Amino acid sequence: MFRESKQREAILRFVKGTSSHPTANHVHEEMRKEIPNISLGTVYRNLKLLKREGKISELDIADSKSRFDGNPHNHYHFRCERCGRVFDVDEPVNKEIDKRIARKTGFKVSHHILEFRGLCRDCQSSNE
Ligand code: ZN
Ligand code: MN
Repeated sequence: MFRESKQREAILRFVKGTSSHPTANHVHEEMRKEIPNISLGTVYRNLKLLKREGKISELDIADSKSRFDGNPHNHYHFRCERCGRVFDVDEPVNKEIDKRIARKTGFKVSHHILEFRGLCRDCQSSNE
């Protein structure tokens, strides 16, 4: 029990401390440096648990590998189509869109997920 919670703490510390939006595989690789015998299944289970507890969030855009985010609050992302990195976008979440779509459709909108796509700065400069 103690070991489990220490593992979870280490996972949370890593996800909170990185801006890389790591996949479960990446978190697993990092955790193995600290806890050599930790399994991917354990990492995955703890990530899901931390998400349920509202401590982290999960970027679950269809058809891409799930990434985890130390910021549990809704915010926008940019995903580079060349290197695959995901960045936070410093832009306030537009709640008006939710209201407008709700009015238009009659759906009860809880939130929206927005991800911009294109080339990051590094990939643009390695273009030439
Ligand atoms: Zn890139
Ligand atoms: Mn983020």
